[in-house]
Amino acid sequence: MTRLALFDLDNTLIDHDEAFRGWAVEFADDRGLGAVAVERLVALDGHGYLPRETLFAQIKEDFGVEGHVEDLWAAYRRRMPELVRCPREVRDGLTRLRTTGWRVAIVTNGLADNQLGKIRRTGLDEVVDAWAVSGAEGVRKPDRGLFEIAAARAGAGLGAGGWVIGDHPVHAPARSARCGRRGG
Ligand SMILES: [Mg+2]
Repeated sequence: MTRLALFDLDNTLIDHDEAFRGWAVEFADDRGLGAVAVERLVALDGHGYLPRETLFAQIKEDFGVEGHVEDLWAAYRRRMPELVRCPREVRDGLTRLRTTGWRVAIVTNGLADNQLGKIRRTGLDEVVDAWAVSGAEGVRKPDRGLFEIAAARAGAGLGAGGWVIGDHPVHAPARSARCGRRGG
């Protein structure tokens, strides 16, 4: 039987919080803001779970950013892939899983440019079988459909069971999938 492991991306395979803090420091430095602004930004981010359109609209309002919310958000998406890290032991662990017969895929919510940029920049694209990004597929977690796309691309199906690994009990798992679940 094919064994399947579906991983969330942000704060599971890569450290979103660390990268976001790095972005917040740059944002604050560029505008001559201090450490309080950085903490405000990090609090607003909510570990990445505040919808980005809401986040950037709030940032624009709080800090009086000139220009369009869309432009601020787009600049963030260009920068974040350069700030995220994936520890070598994580990539090595995924490689070991695959060499022992597991099919491994990433299932992540977000816009395609940002999420694919992070997957490629960190080298995760070389150590997983497949990925499914909500912004590219038109379906978001926790909808089962995104998990089905990732599983099919990895050469497996959800019907045979498997694991969903993430950092949040609501945002990460497929509620209706017949998958084992660990953590969030
Ligand atoms: Mg996550």
